[in-house]
Amino acid sequence: MTPNPGTQSVYGPPEPEAGGILTIDLPAIVANWRELARRAQPAACAAVIKADAYGCGIEPVAQALTAAGCETFFVAHLAEGRRVRAAAAGAAIYVLNGLLPNAADTYAQSNLRPVLCSLDEWAEWEAFKTKTKWLGGAALHVDTGMNRLGMRPQEATALARRAGIEHSGLTLLLSHLACSEDPAHSLNAKQIGLFREIRNLFPAIPASLSNSSGIFLGPDAHHEIVRPGVALYGANPTPGHANLMRPVVRLEGRIVQVRAVPEGETVGYGATWTARRATRLAVVSIGYADGFLRAGSATDLRAGAEAMVHGHRCPLAGRVSMDLIAVDVTALPERAVRRGELVALLDETIGVDDLAAHANTIAYEVLTGLGRRYRRVYRG
Ligand SMILES: *Cc1c(COP(=O)(O)O)cnc(C)c1O
Repeated sequence: MTPNPGTQSVYGPPEPEAGGILTIDLPAIVANWRELARRAQPAACAAVIKADAYGCGIEPVAQALTAAGCETFFVAHLAEGRRVRAAAAGAAIYVLNGLLPNAADTYAQSNLRPVLCSLDEWAEWEAFKTKTKWLGGAALHVDTGMNRLGMRPQEATALARRAGIEHSGLTLLLSHLACSEDPAHSLNAKQIGLFREIRNLFPAIPASLSNSSGIFLGPDAHHEIVRPGVALYGANPTPGHANLMRPVVRLEGRIVQVRAVPEGETVGYGATWTARRATRLAVVSIGYADGFLRAGSATDLRAGAEAMVHGHRCPLAGRVSMDLIAVDVTALPERAVRRGELVALLDETIGVDDLAAHANTIAYEVLTGLGRRYRRVYRG
C-alpha cells in the first residue's frame, strides 16, 4: 500500500501564524525506498530511521514504510526502538548503538534486537538469554575499518569458531562502510573484502554492509539486507552524479518585513555583509533556532544559502540570526515581494545537499537539525 498522496496530517501553529512550514512528502520517502530496494535486489531493503527518521518523524516514516512492505528498521537508541515498536508492531528492529549495561531485559520487553558491538556485549546478551530463555534476535557488529563501533575481525573470527554459534540466536552480521559516498576510495574494497571473509565464517547468518551509498557500490556490497538512511529522505547517495532520489522535504519561511537598504550600509549581526547597490531585503521568520544553520550565513567574502522567491533564486544577506534571515530580493520587481508571503528554502530546486553545501556541511546535519517550531505537514 502507498500512502494516499491526497491526505495530510498537520502539527504546530495554524498556517497564517507559522514562521516556517515544513512539508514532509511520505510518498516520496516510499518511492525512494522502493527505488533503493529495486537496486539492491535480490537483497532485502531495511530502513534506517534513527534520529527521528533524520528529522522527518520516526512514527509517520515507520508507518509509511511498513505499509510499503519494509520489515526491518534500524535505530540508534533504545528509546527510538520503543517508538518504532509502537508504530510497527511486527517489524524487526535493530538498535545500532548496542547493548547498554544491565539493560538486556528492556530490549526484550519491546522485542528490540541489540546490535552487539563487543565481546562484553555478546557475553551479557548470552547470559541474559540463558537465564530467561529469551529467543529474540540480535546482530553482531564487526568493524572492518571504520573504527567506531564493532568488534575486531579477530574477535569475530574467534567467536565464529565457538561451538553452536549458528544456534545462538544471531539474526544478522553487520559492518559499516566509512567512505561509500566516494566509490574510488580504497577503503571500500578493503572493507568489502574483509567483510566477505568474515561473513563466510557465519554462513547461516544473514549479513548486511551497505548504507545508502553502499548500495551503489554494486552487488559485492549488498549481501542479504541493505540499510539505507539518508537517501530515503532525498539526499543524493551518488555525489557528483544526478540524484536518483525524489526530494522529500520542503521548507518555506514567512516574510515578516520587506525593507530597503541604501548602498554601502551593512546587514545583520557583525555587519559582515555590505549592500553593494541599493538593495531590497525580505526578512524571513526562520533562524538557527529552527535548525537553519548559521554556517549558511552570507558575508562580503562568501555567498550563503539561497531562497526561491516567486521562481527566482535569491541569495541570503548577512548572518543567520536566531529567529530571522534576510534574503536579497533586489532582482525581483519592486512590488512583487510582499509581507506575509512564503519563500522556499528547500524545494525541488534547492535540495538538502545544496543547503548543506552552502553551510559547509552534509545533508545529514541539515535533516537532523530540522526545527521543532515549524508548522509540520505530512503529505500522504
Ligand atoms: C546511520 C547508519 C546507516 C545509514 O547510513 P546512510 O548513510 O544514512 O544511508 C547504516 N548503518 C549504520 C551502522 C549507521 O550508523
